[in-house]
Amino acid sequence: MKRIVILGAAESGVGAAALAKVKGFEVFVSDMGKIKENYKQILQQYDVPWEEGTHTEQLILNADEIVKSPGIPDNAPMVCKAKEAGIPIISEIEFAGRYTNAKMICITGSNGKTTTTSLIYHIFKKAGYNVGLAGNIGRSLALQIAEGQTYEYYIIELSSFQLDNMYDFRANIAVLLNITPDHLDRYEGSMQNYTDSKMRILQNQTEEDAFIYWNDDPVISAELKKYGIKARMCPFSIIEKKGMIGYIADGKYVIENPTPFNMEQESLSLRGKHNMYNSLAAGIAARISGIDDESLRQSLSDFEGVEHRLQKVARVGGVQYVNDSKATNVDACWYALESMTTPTILIIGGLDKGNDYNAIKDLVQKKCAGLVYLGADNTKLHNFFDGMGIPVADTNNMKDCVAACYRMAKPGYTVLLSPCCASFDLFKNMEDRGEQFCEQVKNL
Ligand code: ADP
Repeated sequence: MKRIVILGAAESGVGAAALAKVKGFEVFVSDMGKIKENYKQILQQYDVPWEEGTHTEQLILNADEIVKSPGIPDNAPMVCKAKEAGIPIISEIEFAGRYTNAKMICITGSNGKTTTTSLIYHIFKKAGYNVGLAGNIGRSLALQIAEGQTYEYYIIELSSFQLDNMYDFRANIAVLLNITPDHLDRYEGSMQNYTDSKMRILQNQTEEDAFIYWNDDPVISAELKKYGIKARMCPFSIIEKKGMIGYIADGKYVIENPTPFNMEQESLSLRGKHNMYNSLAAGIAARISGIDDESLRQSLSDFEGVEHRLQKVARVGGVQYVNDSKATNVDACWYALESMTTPTILIIGGLDKGNDYNAIKDLVQKKCAGLVYLGADNTKLHNFFDGMGIPVADTNNMKDCVAACYRMAKPGYTVLLSPCCASFDLFKNMEDRGEQFCEQVKNL
C-alpha cells in the first residue's frame, strides 16, 4: 500500500490526511508544533496516526509521497531530508485536485486574493451554481472532497506557497491579480523566485481554459513574454484599451467578452481602485462561466466585502473608522490610501518585512492629516515620516492607538488602520489586530 506522509497538521494537512485515508492510503501526520484540538479530533475520526512536537525520520522518510503544509518553508530540515531521499513533495491542493472533476477557478496575486475569491464565490452562489470555496480561505479542498462533496465548481484562493508544490493541477480559469514584493524571506530575497511561483498558476492550462490577468502590472507583462500561453487570454484594465476584456470607461464597468455586459461603476458595492480590479476579474470569470446579466449586476452591487479589508467599522463624532488590518504590505496600504476621499489619520506599523515606504510617501503627504504609529518598535517609522510635517503619535497598544486617533481626527475625517506590516509584534495575527481595533472604536 502506498504511504502518504503529511507534514503540518492544520487546515490543509488534516484535510489531506482525511482524503488520503478515504482513498485507501497508509497515512501518517507529523507536526513540529502542537496540533489544535479540533484537528486532532478530525484525525481521530478518520483513524489517522499522528505525532506532534517532533518529526520522526523513520516514520517520514519511508513515504512514497509527502504532502507539505504551505506554512513549512522549503529549507526546513525535514523537507531537505525528504528531498535528498527523492520523495516527491506536493501541496494539499495538488493532492486533492486528483480526486475531483469539478471545474477549478483559481485566484492568486500578491494582494486581493481573498476579496476576489469571496466575490466570485458570492456571484456563483447567488446565480444558483453548485459551488464550493477552498484554498487559503475557509475549509480545505481535500477535506471537502473526503467528505464526499460534489461541487460543479470550486473557487480556490492560492498563495505562492501552495503553488510552489503544485505540478499537474490545472486551473480551468486562472486569475492573476498582481505581483508585488511579498514574502521575499521565503524566496531567498529573490523577486524572480517569488514571481516564478505566482506564474505557476498557468501551468497545465489548455486551449479550453481561460487566463484572467491585470494588463497593467509591469511584472506580469514582462513575465508573459516568456511563456507560450495556450489558454484564452483575458486581460483587464481600469482604462479602456485595445484588447481588454474588461475595463472602466465613462463611469461604466464594462466586460466585452465572451458576452457583453455593463453597469454603472457607482453601483459596484466594492470601493477603491484596487477593488475595481477585483470586480473586473470576478466579472470576467462569471461571464466565462455563463452567469447572466441580472445575477451578475445584482451580486456586484450587493457583495458586502470581507472583514479586515477596508471594512467600515463605525462613524463616531462624524469620523469614519476603517479596518484594513489585512494590509500587511506597502502596496495594500497604497491602494487603501488611494481610495480615501477625506483627510485621513493613518495607523501604520507592526512587524516590518523590509518595507520601503517611499512607495506611499506622496499619498501620505496628499491624504494624511495625522499618522499614528502602532508597533513594538516604531523607530523606522519615526525616521521616515516624522520630517514630513504631519502630526504623529507613537503608540504600542490598540487602546492608546485608537485614543490618539480620536484626539487627532476632526469631523469629516477618516481613521484608517492599514498598517503596511505584519501584526505579530503586538497581536496574535491580523484578525486579532482588526478585532481589537473594532472593539476600541466601539468603546469610544
Ligand atoms: P490577499 O488575500 O491577497 O491578502 P485581500 O483581499 O485579503 O488580499 O486584501 C489584502 C489587502 O490588499 C487589503 O488591505 C486590501 O485593501 C488590499 N487589496 C485588495 N485588493 C487589491 C488589489 N487588487 N491590489 C492591491 N491591493 C489590494
